[in-house]
Amino acid sequence: MYNFSRKTAEEIQQGALSKIFPLRTPHDTWLFIAPHDDDLIIGCGLLLQAAKDAGINTDSVIVSDGSMGYCTKEQKKNIGKIRKNETCAAFQLLGLKEPVWLDYPDTRLSLYSGRYPAKKKDSCAVMGFSGLQNSLTYFMRKSCPSRIFVPAGTDLHPDHKTVHAETMISLFHSQGQIWPELGEPLAFCPEVYESAVYCDFASSPDIKLETDSRALEKKLSAIKAWASQAQIESLVNNIRKSGAVEYFRTFPFNLYAPDHYRKIF
Ligand SMILES: [Zn+2]
Repeated sequence: MYNFSRKTAEEIQQGALSKIFPLRTPHDTWLFIAPHDDDLIIGCGLLLQAAKDAGINTDSVIVSDGSMGYCTKEQKKNIGKIRKNETCAAFQLLGLKEPVWLDYPDTRLSLYSGRYPAKKKDSCAVMGFSGLQNSLTYFMRKSCPSRIFVPAGTDLHPDHKTVHAETMISLFHSQGQIWPELGEPLAFCPEVYESAVYCDFASSPDIKLETDSRALEKKLSAIKAWASQAQIESLVNNIRKSGAVEYFRTFPFNLYAPDHYRKIF
């Protein structure tokens, strides 16, 4: 059972997923974007289960290749591959579709901001171009999501800041006519939400998901799939202590219009 609450200035609405996130199309897709493979389940492991049980199609995009996440000398050479296998196991455990990997170099994502002509043998290239805005715009147009979830940009981790910023500008691009080789522009603007991974939100979240210990234990089992990560046990213990709850913050993706300010002068 999944109980959602949404806090607005006037009230707190409560109910099932369909009340707080009503369908926006006959077959909604929610797109989850994360800098690193484990961010998705840490921040949204309960929400992903709720969405799946509600029949929402979920697409996941992992931006980095995980190549800096080694904890032993032995892992140094092949940690990217190890983490991909662990991620597949975690997603299978939750019954989720395999994520798409963009494979940009871990811990250096800020160096790959924007869009630029791809060099030879660039494994991140799509339609002859590379860069986070190229990849994210392409996948947003391919996924056509009604809602997008991304870790908060206030996180201390520079990769999290970069992916948040590049997601927002890519969402802007994906609605326009620019770069037609990356697909048809989105028919409408998805709602955007932040999840929290390592740091607090910039301001209080407005959505709360509470569920039962069964869903929590499933989330924790999925997180344990990242056995290569030496700190995983303490992370699992911390999440268990907090209980079967996740918070999300609706991100104000507002484009400027002078009308927004007419009344205040
Ligand atoms: Zn991360």
